[in-house]
Amino acid sequence: MYSKFICPICKGNFTVNNKTLICENNHCYDISKYGYINLMRSQKSSKKRHGDDKLMLKSRHDFLEKGYYKPLLDAVTDEVLKRCGDENFTVLDVGCGEGYYTANIKQNVPDCDVYGIDISKDALICAAKRDRNISLAAASCSEIPIESGSCDVVLNIFSPTNAAEYSRVLRPDGILIKAIPLENHLFGLKAAVYDKPYKNKIDSRELENFIVSDFREIKYTLNFTSNEDIISLFKMTPYYYKTSRTDQAKLENLTNLETEIEFGIIVYQKR
Ligand SMILES: [Zn+2]
Repeated sequence: MYSKFICPICKGNFTVNNKTLICENNHCYDISKYGYINLMRSQKSSKKRHGDDKLMLKSRHDFLEKGYYKPLLDAVTDEVLKRCGDENFTVLDVGCGEGYYTANIKQNVPDCDVYGIDISKDALICAAKRDRNISLAAASCSEIPIESGSCDVVLNIFSPTNAAEYSRVLRPDGILIKAIPLENHLFGLKAAVYDKPYKNKIDSRELENFIVSDFREIKYTLNFTSNEDIISLFKMTPYYYKTSRTDQAKLENLTNLETEIEFGIIVYQKR
């Protein structure tokens, strides 16, 4: 564990010494009692850099634990399993959040070396609780503290994309697995909240330094029969923070909701 992390200051490799990582230039980082390392380059803007707040995190945890996104979890794990090779096989989950996808991969392929980074420390604490055998660090995707050319798979599940950094950390034959919401994802939920719901805009699949080698769609319908689940779903989306109180209130007493779930999984090969 931890050996592929690099020092955020000098980019040197670490020696793992009990609960501390020390680089060649003696920069030290402690593995916190919560099971992650803080490798943020700077603490200055930590207030602006909120990551997922606790409310969003709890809603997402409750929601995911009920298995509503299990088809996506299975599909992502499947893509990794298909390619999994020797015991040196390394997977990095960028923006791993509370480790829902990360932990499932570790549990399905115990031999593989699994890393997760996120800017939210609360999310990392949840991820460490899911599985203590994942190497976790607080870090941003703009400067990934991982050794160049050390990863076989990078996961990018609904997190910001940084093609240059993904390409740098991947081995020459490495792949990037990116999950995106498709056009009608959560349309039923949006129709319950907004007078004029819009379909999602789909960004171009093209990514610098990568070629698309595979694409699959996962589409199904969810029927919610509890207000709690509907509210959890809403709170874990970015819509929650962009919606007026009047529109938010429309969900307060709603106990039945049918909504489309639509994900795309893009597999990229390093160019
Ligand atoms: Zn250093």
